[in-house]
Amino acid sequence: MTRVLPVTGPGHPAIREAASILAAGGLVAFPTETVYGLGADGLNPGAVARIYAAKGRPATNPVILHVDSPASARALTSRWPAEATALVERFWPGPLTLVLPASEQVPAIVRAGGPTVALRCPAHGIAQALIQAAGRPLAAPSANRSQHLSPTLAEHVASSLGAAVDLILDGGPTEAGLESTILDLSGAQPRLLRPGPIAPTELAALLGEVELWEGAVKQGEIQAAPGMAERHYAPRASLELVAPGSGQVAGPGPIAYVAFGHLPPLPESIHGILLPLDAEAVGTRLFALLHELDDAGFDRVVMERPPEGEAWMAIRDRLRRASAKDSE
Ligand code: AMP
Ligand code: MG
Repeated sequence: MTRVLPVTGPGHPAIREAASILAAGGLVAFPTETVYGLGADGLNPGAVARIYAAKGRPATNPVILHVDSPASARALTSRWPAEATALVERFWPGPLTLVLPASEQVPAIVRAGGPTVALRCPAHGIAQALIQAAGRPLAAPSANRSQHLSPTLAEHVASSLGAAVDLILDGGPTEAGLESTILDLSGAQPRLLRPGPIAPTELAALLGEVELWEGAVKQGEIQAAPGMAERHYAPRASLELVAPGSGQVAGPGPIAYVAFGHLPPLPESIHGILLPLDAEAVGTRLFALLHELDDAGFDRVVMERPPEGEAWMAIRDRLRRASAKDSE
């Protein structure tokens, strides 16, 4: 059985215990304001290797280091541009990850052998307290098996990773529900690598211009680039995206139909779910809803394509990847 300890706040004694597990090279899952992270001592390559093993994560996919302050982040880089200072003053602590040239201190396994390191300073009180108690940066990818749904509750972590994690700190549901925005500052131009709670226009307001991986943003629309649409965030049920208002679903097996803003008339046998036209509220709920539909035994989830517009960008990204086929 995985150990789960409820943690009510940053002063809770479980945080000390978690820090000693981390010091010994163990794995501790903890809440952040985005999703639950699977934490290990980010400067201990053996501990980080346990993250990869627990998640079944390919060695080519680097992990984010979580720090308690801009100064700790800076110490892990070999170059800290003026943009980084401006961004962290505005958005840290918070759901923004910066990719920067790594210092020699950062183990190769954290970087997946590359020259850069991804850094984030989470805003969640329990995450902050744990990083400080550990006295180290914590490597902490989402606490789920690779490619699967991200966890927004301690129960999601336990059911995805089970005994592979030494301790789960249960701080209740996470707030943002979607992973951090990732911005690459290691090249000539700031480049968005993953849309998240902080929108590209908020970044562009500070930076002037932000590239969206390959290609540009057009009216806030994502141009999917090869390699960015691989299957990820996937529920057990098959997820299909359909045109809004279609309601045209048929087939065997329990099917759920998810709509935004308005639920069209549906056949008797289809379970309808209405989500609000509120991107922030949907972001908070999305992964939890997909977990619930899996647990309830739905084989198919038919979901209307979410609205256009920048506020929905991170949700469109997660749903496109959650609905991608295995072969991609
Ligand atoms: P997760 O596993 O859910 O925490 O996601 C972490 C994300 O950060 C993955 O998409 C990684 O590819 C990305 N990432 C981590 N380190 C780097 C890096 N050095 N350069 C670019 N992306 C990174
Ligand atoms: Mg993940």
